[in-house]
Amino acid sequence: MEASVYIHVPFCGGACDYCDFYSIPVRHDDERLIRYIEAAAEDVINQIDRYAVDSIPSMYIGGGTPSLLGASGISKLMKALSPAMKKSPAEISIEANPESADKDFVLACKDNGITRISLGVQSFCEKSRNAVHRTGSIEAVPNALSLLQNVWGGNFSVDLMTGLPFQNASIVQDDIEKTLSYRPAHVSLYSLIVEDGTVLAKKIRTKEAILPSDDEADSLWLCGRNLLEEAGYSQYEVSNFAQPGGECRHNIRYWRMENWLGIGPGASGTLFDDENGCAVRRTVPADIDSFLQGNAEPETEYLNRSDLIKEMILMGFRFIEGPDDTLIQKRFGKTIDTLIPETLDRWRQKGFLRKHKAALTKEGLLFLNSFVRDAFVELDKNGGSG
Ligand code: SF4
Repeated sequence: MEASVYIHVPFCGGACDYCDFYSIPVRHDDERLIRYIEAAAEDVINQIDRYAVDSIPSMYIGGGTPSLLGASGISKLMKALSPAMKKSPAEISIEANPESADKDFVLACKDNGITRISLGVQSFCEKSRNAVHRTGSIEAVPNALSLLQNVWGGNFSVDLMTGLPFQNASIVQDDIEKTLSYRPAHVSLYSLIVEDGTVLAKKIRTKEAILPSDDEADSLWLCGRNLLEEAGYSQYEVSNFAQPGGECRHNIRYWRMENWLGIGPGASGTLFDDENGCAVRRTVPADIDSFLQGNAEPETEYLNRSDLIKEMILMGFRFIEGPDDTLIQKRFGKTIDTLIPETLDRWRQKGFLRKHKAALTKEGLLFLNSFVRDAFVELDKNGGSG
């Protein structure tokens, strides 16, 4: 079986107000970091054996803040993962935050087979960063980007965010220009989403934090998108832009819904049964203690044919190439054109769908949620599975 691997590193140097990932604030010398490396690597090896994975197209070490593991932690983790490395992953990405992406960390990534670093910058504007308690100091940002450009020298990505407090078009322009001056191959441009239960949601309720209006936030994101496109970065997903060849292969596998294993507290993995058009998703409890004690029993969810068709539409239309029709045909015995013909027709007429392909145009991607709603209504009308 072929399956990618996602390893969630659930530790951060602080807690950003808008964050809803499972992550616990720790110091870099917290002894749980080392124990976590051992437990996570062991779980990767066990799952590879259990599911007879003979090929790993990509690996992604995300978080949290994986760069908190430091140079020695990364070396230890990659050595412990050596049985997985024999399955020839062509892309191994790691997320890093500027304050912990020092020279030794970058060199350790380089020496241990990592092929791609994704740096969480969000913004160069100190006032906006402080307003949402973004972890790390602004001074660390240019240092980390210089290291990526000059010491790492390979494929790297930068995460930016629009819709932050105090942001305006000239701040977004400054963020993009500063970022592009380091020549990343890839930029993710996220629009801030206020999730229920976060510190930010509470601060907005009590007026301690004020965000741009929805219209302002949309125009800030569009301003960023246009600047990226003008600079030669093509949008290949709702929030992702790349120079030719700089796309993240691991994330493309999620949008196309191909097998992946999820490792670590809060992570989920999904394995597909192409013959029967269904899947099994396992989610590890978001609890570091049970994971370290070896008794984190994953919650199992079965995705039947109609769940899976919906999810393939939801994920597939995020991608500029649309869902993988060959895979849809293999799993469900139908093409996307026969599953949601009316929705495709209507959206093509509006000019939001490509003429000869079931894929949203760049402008159509702005209305992804309405497109998905229309598609689901049509699927439900036809009994949920076309
Ligand atoms: S650094 Fe990232 S994962 Fe950590 S608290 Fe901030 S947003 Fe969440």
